[in-house]
Amino acid sequence: MAFMTPTIVKNFFGKPATRMYPITTREPFSNARGELYIDVKECNMCTLCARACPAQCITVDREKATWECDPFECVYCGVCVDVCGRKCLHQHDQYRAPAVEKFVMHEQGEIKKKPKKEASDSA
Ligand code: SF4
Ligand code: SF4
Repeated sequence: MAFMTPTIVKNFFGKPATRMYPITTREPFSNARGELYIDVKECNMCTLCARACPAQCITVDREKATWECDPFECVYCGVCVDVCGRKCLHQHDQYRAPAVEKFVMHEQGEIKKKPKKEASDSA
């Protein structure tokens, strides 16, 4: 018991090792991967992010041009950000704030029409 006394005294008078989250938060690390967001105007509904997401929490409906993500399933890995060729997915440097109700991020995009091929010069 005596060999533990210094540790007990140190812990008793020292600062706590934990924080009163979410009241007290820490500064984010550089390049921290936090809450996901999308610039849906740039999205072409290619579905690459949905297919690459290891948590399978992204749903892209190409017919309705909707992009959805369940933030409660997201593991903040950043894979979707890396694979997006349009560079329209980003992550804040902070985690999503705690919530008492579940929700799904729902974004309405545009159905982008393919440019018409120009008539060939075969005439
Ligand atoms: S950060 Fe990872 S888990 Fe979250 S939506 Fe993107 S790919 Fe999925
Ligand atoms: S967010 Fe990027 S990867 Fe995902 S559907 Fe849109 S363009 Fe494709």
